[in-house]
Amino acid sequence: MGNTLSEWTTFGIGGAAKRIEIVTSRDRLIDSASCGVVLGRGSNILASDGGYDGTVVINRYEQAERKGTCVYAGSGTRLSALCGFAAENGLSGLEWAVGIPGTVGGAVRMNAGAFLGAVSDVLVYADVLRDGKLVTLDKSQLGFGYRSSSLRNGDVVIGAEFALTDDDPTIIRKRGASYNALRKSSQPSGRSAGSIFKNPPHASVGKILDEAGLKGLRHGGAVISREHANIIVNTCGATAKDVCALIRIMRGALAAAGVEAKEEIIYLGEF
Ligand SMILES: Cc1cc2nc3c(=O)[nH]c(=O)nc-3n(C[C@H](O)[C@H](O)[C@H](O)COP(=O)(O)OP(=O)(O)OC[C@H]3O[C@@H](n4cnc5c(N)ncnc54)[C@H](O)[C@@H]3O)c2cc1C
Repeated sequence: MGNTLSEWTTFGIGGAAKRIEIVTSRDRLIDSASCGVVLGRGSNILASDGGYDGTVVINRYEQAERKGTCVYAGSGTRLSALCGFAAENGLSGLEWAVGIPGTVGGAVRMNAGAFLGAVSDVLVYADVLRDGKLVTLDKSQLGFGYRSSSLRNGDVVIGAEFALTDDDPTIIRKRGASYNALRKSSQPSGRSAGSIFKNPPHASVGKILDEAGLKGLRHGGAVISREHANIIVNTCGATAKDVCALIRIMRGALAAAGVEAKEEIIYLGEF
């Protein structure tokens, strides 16, 4: 794989980064974290067509270790691998995350969640590189909110511990599979970055945009999904410009419905 950000993001969009550095161990992640922006699977990212004028560190520090009924995971561990490890060990509490295509680090930063579950429900602490020092921040110090944490730009999650509960592996797997089936039945399968906007309290952005008739709206290679109006899909060769054109229209529809639009996706590069 090369320097083009389209290769490192689930959207499949974005120009070249000045430098890509792939790290596969805890020590390499700690050494390299301050050199640039850290990405996991790039599953919540819209990267600029102009790319990124700096280093992008691709985090592949993958590790999972059982500690009683807790699991400690390296921040580059895919959520799918973590869920599999927990199920294998008869540990429940992460089933909601089955099918979310990110890593532990991205999930902590974003307080990823689904089906009424979220990272903040199960996280005990995260090891974070802050201002060049490794610090351990417990849940109360991470300022979790809806799809947000108080982690600052430049803070890098190195690893995190999750408190789970004993259960039957077969039941855990079944629960995870049924959440994933629900996800697959309501979300598109094409290349995307998941939801574009955060839901406001007690309302669904997808429903508002659906009622505004935006499903299926296309700009270049980007389309507002027919399955879920808060998701944009890169059908073929979409550019960040195409996506931004649709985001502007979505934002207008939300404003017309009296909803303040707040992006869930993270922009990388110049927009
Ligand atoms: C098909 C699809 C479905 C999705 N469904 C859901 C869902 O149900 N719920 C949900 O919450 N999200 C969902 N998402 C969005 C996304 O998967 C999550 O936000 C995920 O947690 C992002 O993880 P990542 O490793 O890919 O982070 P990236 O996209 O690589 O990065 C996201 C942000 O986190 C930062 N970051 C990444 N790693 C670290 C680290 N180690 N330390 C500090 N900061 C870091 C990045 O710099 C960036 O600011 C979905 C996305 C897709 C494509």
